Amino acid sequence: MNLQLDESLATEYNSASQKIRVMSEGWLLSNAFCPCCGNDHINKIRNNVPVADMRCEICGEIFELKSKRNAVGQKITDGAYRTMIERITSNINPQLFVMQYSAALTVTNLTFIPKFFFTPDIIEKRKPLSANAKRAGWVGCNILYQKIPEQGKLRIIRDGKEVDASKVLRRYEQIKKLQTDNIGLRGWMLDVLNCINDIGSENFTLQQVYQYAEALKLKHNLNRNVEAKIRQQLQFLRDRGFVEFVGRGVYKKVIAYNE
Ligand SMILES: [Zn+2]
Repeated sequence: MNLQLDESLATEYNSASQKIRVMSEGWLLSNAFCPCCGNDHINKIRNNVPVADMRCEICGEIFELKSKRNAVGQKITDGAYRTMIERITSNINPQLFVMQYSAALTVTNLTFIPKFFFTPDIIEKRKPLSANAKRAGWVGCNILYQKIPEQGKLRIIRDGKEVDASKVLRRYEQIKKLQTDNIGLRGWMLDVLNCINDIGSENFTLQQVYQYAEALKLKHNLNRNVEAKIRQQLQFLRDRGFVEFVGRGVYKKVIAYNE
């Protein structure tokens, strides 16, 4: 991969955000492989589909690309709030690439977030555009990037270095086991995964996870059965090889966390 963005693609555009969109998309179309099936390139979708931009012609997956200079930070600005929520709850949201680029316009990081790591919970509604705006009243959204568990962030380029494609594909196969179209279940599973990630040690106890019960109770507006929900999710994660039950209420993280 050539990590330099091509400035000649953007000469016709005036706004900085349009220039970056065109250059980063151009880069992806010439350099990226499909992390879902290994196809060596991704194509542009010609018609103007809201939210989605690109497609793999082999597996049919749809991709969106968001770019940020320097650090990604807490949030990524995305399109219309309602469209985003509808797409997530109907399981038709696109896969997401997040690109970071340097002041010298080189790609420093490229991360892939599978569509099944999205829940309405990580989408933040923005303030409607003001009455003076061209699209007055339009409501956009932010993706709360930091709320996405580490397991859902597949590094393709890390600190200016390419991660071996076979490793990316292997990791995708692993995390694909977490895919569920049941949005409620997905929300609980990702919450429990975040709790486990938050515990520093490799081994952890059920009691340690229960410490998050109060927060989860508030979040899900649930008064009872929170602990049962936690156990159910631990079982889901265990069945998919993400945690191991060691015994006596002790679990072990199996799949390399924070890799
Ligand atoms: Zn593909």
